[in-house]
Amino acid sequence: MDWDTLIHNGTVVTVNPDFDIIENGFVAVKNGRIVDIGALTPDAGRSAAGECVDAGGGIVFPGFVNTHTHLPMTLFRGLADDLPLMTWLQEHIFPAEERYITPGTVGPATLLACAEMILSGTTTCCDGYFHEDAVAEAVDAAGIRAVLGQGVIDYPAPGVGDPSKNVDHALAYTEKWRDRSPLIMPSIFCHSPYTCSPGTLRRAKKAAGDLIFQIHAAETRPECRRIQEEHGRSPIAYLDHLGVLDERTLVVHAVWADMEDISILNRRRAAASHCPLSNMKLAGGIAQAVEMLRAGIPVGLGTDGCASGNTLDMFRTMDMAAKLHKVAASDPTVMDARTILEMATIRGAEALGLSDRIGSLEKGKSADIVVLDTGSPHLQPMHRPESHLVYSAGGADVRDVMAAGRWVLRDRRLKTLHWPAIRDAVDGIAASISTNG
Ligand SMILES: [Zn+2]
Repeated sequence: MDWDTLIHNGTVVTVNPDFDIIENGFVAVKNGRIVDIGALTPDAGRSAAGECVDAGGGIVFPGFVNTHTHLPMTLFRGLADDLPLMTWLQEHIFPAEERYITPGTVGPATLLACAEMILSGTTTCCDGYFHEDAVAEAVDAAGIRAVLGQGVIDYPAPGVGDPSKNVDHALAYTEKWRDRSPLIMPSIFCHSPYTCSPGTLRRAKKAAGDLIFQIHAAETRPECRRIQEEHGRSPIAYLDHLGVLDERTLVVHAVWADMEDISILNRRRAAASHCPLSNMKLAGGIAQAVEMLRAGIPVGLGTDGCASGNTLDMFRTMDMAAKLHKVAASDPTVMDARTILEMATIRGAEALGLSDRIGSLEKGKSADIVVLDTGSPHLQPMHRPESHLVYSAGGADVRDVMAAGRWVLRDRRLKTLHWPAIRDAVDGIAASISTNG
């Protein structure tokens, strides 16, 4: 059998189409892929494996797919909370970005984000920010998978002083990273329909070509009013009118997408990223994620950046998403644990066009695997592992993480990142932020 790694003695939550859960199961890995999966490891397989990892009766599940981040914004975690979106953005975040976002700060900030994601079981993220070249270097060094979008906005932005060059800048970045790393998929991220002109949106979509095109849209009611006044349409209908919605477009938030907008997204086969924590904190509203899923739109979960969402821990987002929709619908049966876990894994992978490679534990897929320790009191006893993952577990319960067949976390120790060095670098930047305001 000759496997590189065998993970055994775990409850394997496959998130395959039948949502099979294998008691006392194993997952075998070779050359970065899952080559076998099942119950009760044959002894011969155990002796033939290069490395044998005992899951200790814990839960083995596919690495989370976080469909919306702004990784370097870990630097601004907790800097400005409890404010309306526009005040938060224009009076706090944009000025802080202008002063502190440089290639030199983006690297350590992204490594901090990667450490946090790995330690809480995320093996794939979809990011949009500035200096994305430095973001890509850091994520690649961390050894996790990512769709990384260079930001486009019609204002001077970090690394792009002249907005008329924003799309050219993004295109140069995508060309550089197109085939550079098997883990990094470049992308273009337009900030929003209200900060990018129609021409910029069209040009950016064209430049993205077959890569993922990301955009925040329909996030708040004032945004919808403004787009309606200026363009006579809802933000989603406006983007459709511009021809930028298709199966390679990821619409982030879509909080105010109504049934007509949902049918547009569905018709164009566009995907959505649902970020309930950020939407709740900024009081943006409640996206109709249940209806979007019902319509067949691939809807993944996202944390958003740490400046608005404060955490990259997908366990918290899953728990919050499940409960938010139950309250909103006055129906405890909506967004059950299985649906939420699928959104955090396979639906997120679909939203990023990666479901043939990741998002579930199945033969032939990439070995993006998490082992969760269930030995703590808050995870005992265990009747239904998917319930534990969504409602009881937290990032701190993650014991081991493998990305593309390589361990990035073993026994809570980061394998690809040097935490003391990251912490020192981030402390230095944070000190200058708190000194200068
Ligand atoms: Zn965002």
